Amino acid sequence: MLDWSRLTLAIANPTCATCAGSGTRRAAGDPCSCVLRAIFRIVHGRARAIAYEGGRLNAPRCSPSHSYGRPGEEFRADFQLVSTRALADHPLEAAVFQRHYIDGHEWRESCRLIRCAKGEFFHAVYRLQQLLGRAFAETLPYALYPVAEYFAGVVTVAPKPAAAQILRMPWPRHIARYIAPRAPAALIPPLKAA
Ligand SMILES: [Zn+2]
Repeated sequence: MLDWSRLTLAIANPTCATCAGSGTRRAAGDPCSCVLRAIFRIVHGRARAIAYEGGRLNAPRCSPSHSYGRPGEEFRADFQLVSTRALADHPLEAAVFQRHYIDGHEWRESCRLIRCAKGEFFHAVYRLQQLLGRAFAETLPYALYPVAEYFAGVVTVAPKPAAAQILRMPWPRHIARYIAPRAPAALIPPLKAA
C-alpha cells in the first residue's frame, strides 16, 4: 500500500476547492484529484521531453543493477504500457489519451477523430489524468512517479519486516578501515614474559 502522505503535499494545488492545498481527501489519506492530475502532468511532461529532446535525456547509462540501457526509452515505454493497462476498461478515456497525448492532436481534431463532443472530451481528459496519476504512483516495483526515483532505480516494494529492522547498512570493508573507530592504542608496551 502506497504511503500517499509522502507524495501529496508538495504538489497539491494551494487553491484546490476540495483539499485547500493539503493534498488529501478526508477519507483515510486518499489523495485529492488535484494531486493525481499533477502527477499525470509531471510524468507526461517527462515522457514528452524524452520524445522531443532525445539525445541528452536518452543517453545509455549503467543502472544501479549494473546493466546498460536507455533509461529514457524505458521510461517512455513504461509510460505507454502503464497507461494502456490503466485505461483498459475506459474506452473513451483510452481513445482521448491516444489521440491527444500520444498522437498529439489538439482538442478539436481529437474530438473529430473520436467523434465526441467538446464537453465529453474534457471530462474524459479530467478522468484519465486522475486514473493515470494514481497508476503512475502505484505501479510496482518501479513507479513512474516520483520521476527522480524511477531514474535512480528505487524499488517501491515495501521492505520485508526483517529488512526494516536494519537501521544502517555497514560500510564496505575497504572503506570501513578508514572510518571505523579504532581501538585505543595501549599506553604501556606489552611486557615480555620473564
Ligand atoms: Zn486538491
